[in-house]
Amino acid sequence: MHCYDCAQSGRHESNGIGACTRCGLFTCADHARVLQTTVQRPVGVIPMTSALPSRRLVCGTCRTAEAA
Ligand SMILES: [Zn+2]
Ligand SMILES: [Zn+2]
Repeated sequence: MHCYDCAQSGRHESNGIGACTRCGLFTCADHARVLQTTVQRPVGVIPMTSALPSRRLVCGTCRTAEAA
């Protein structure tokens, strides 16, 4: 799979590393942002935050939109 942002700018040889968790488009290491996130897991009926961080991949466009 090729990076959507790279394809938009005429680069069709980039290697996508994964899909943005927000828009679902494929993105490459240059355009992706890997963010730390916490995981909520239910313990009985009480949601607990896991002590270990998880991660979330978003593309540059979605990251910019989230920070705007
Ligand atoms: Zn790219
Ligand atoms: Zn995105």
